[in-house]
Amino acid sequence: MLEQLHQIFLKSNGVNTDTRSIEKDQLFFALTGDNFDGNQYIEQALNNGAIHAISSDTKWSTNPKVTVVKNTLTTLQELATFHRNQLNIPIIALTGSNGKTTTKELILSVLANQFKVKGTKGNLNNHIGVPLTLLSFDSSLQIGIVELGANHPKEIAALCDIAQPNIGLITNYGKAHLEGFGSIEGVKNSKSELYNYLKETNGKVIVSKWDPEQIVRTVGMNQFFTPSNTSIHSNTPYIQFIAEGNLIKTQLTGVYNYHNALFAYTVGKLMEMQTEQIVSGIENYAPKNNRSQIIIKNKTKIILDAYNANPSSMKVALENLASQNYTNKIAILGDMFELGAYAAEEHQNIASLTQKLKINDVYLIGENFFKSEVKSAIQFEDLTNFLEKTDLNTDTEQVILIKGSRGMSLEKILESKTLKN
Ligand code: ATP
Ligand code: MG
Repeated sequence: MLEQLHQIFLKSNGVNTDTRSIEKDQLFFALTGDNFDGNQYIEQALNNGAIHAISSDTKWSTNPKVTVVKNTLTTLQELATFHRNQLNIPIIALTGSNGKTTTKELILSVLANQFKVKGTKGNLNNHIGVPLTLLSFDSSLQIGIVELGANHPKEIAALCDIAQPNIGLITNYGKAHLEGFGSIEGVKNSKSELYNYLKETNGKVIVSKWDPEQIVRTVGMNQFFTPSNTSIHSNTPYIQFIAEGNLIKTQLTGVYNYHNALFAYTVGKLMEMQTEQIVSGIENYAPKNNRSQIIIKNKTKIILDAYNANPSSMKVALENLASQNYTNKIAILGDMFELGAYAAEEHQNIASLTQKLKINDVYLIGENFFKSEVKSAIQFEDLTNFLEKTDLNTDTEQVILIKGSRGMSLEKILESKTLKN
């Protein structure tokens, strides 16, 4: 059945799971979730031009344009693996608590200078996104890159079975999704599922040489690579670093992004690329989508990091703020979600850290930060409250970090009257 389905897939114009965006000749998968049942949209998909549909509703079993299966999600995953095996190209998988998308984009930028390469679009990194990514790879590709995300144990292992990577890297282990993983040890075990997969399949891994934990967890692997001969040159505001004697001028801020860029450098080396191509790939990448983006408004430099936040990424972002060459440093921080029982303690830690790092003005926004105890910060229960009560004049020499979980939508601050010209 998979082989037949794959033949239809090859004739199709790609896979789609949403009839609202279906295009002519696409293969429609009727996925079902808690709040929706894709099976209800089969007719619509076919009317809108789908070449074929996969359904779990037996009422379609006599229709030649529909394949009925027991579980459409499992079939999507199996088809993706079948397709991946037909491709016969190296697949690089990356996971980690923070920096996956940034590192993936950096790697794509580097590899694209010499190869036909494609990777996960945006943040499609889960049990549906990974198969869709694999199915977006065609036979003209030379290398594929997949981002693997997880908030529970065993998810990375399952995604490895689907994507079957040959090369893997873990950006870091941090305090993210503590609710689902239970503890930092749970986080480490989850990410290590990628190493375990590569160990069993004799794949290669790229390891950060500054992280003893990563070295320990790759013991017994015979093919691992670490970045060599490298140091930071400056970080004001953009990171410049030296790798093997080459000065690389990035468009990224923060020491953490130096580590992300080094991973991309190492992948380039592993692929035996010319150094100039690697360097230009890193230098040409500028962050998008509120991920550590630098925005200048009058005399104010804003580090907009409103894409997401957890205790580890908050800590490095605050350290980066503290290291900036400005007398006036301001932090506007929003709540960090998905911390479960750790929420109170971790918000308190961050609130205290702002004091320790001597950030001049601290604004804490959200239910959790509102409860933390901190001397000189100004606290707000929600964003509306903050926006109503705060005025920040951008005509002052200052640097402002804006960071919070996705659900806090702190990017709205940028458009508000709070940041006056
Ligand atoms: P998600 O889990 O949402 O997919 P991600 O792992 O893909 O996140 P990015 O989107 O690349 O991560 O980055 C999100 C934010 O994480 C950045 O804006 C930055 O604040 C922080 N970050 C990036 N790289 C690192 C790193 N190496 N260490 C710690 N924090 C980082
Ligand atoms: Mg991501």
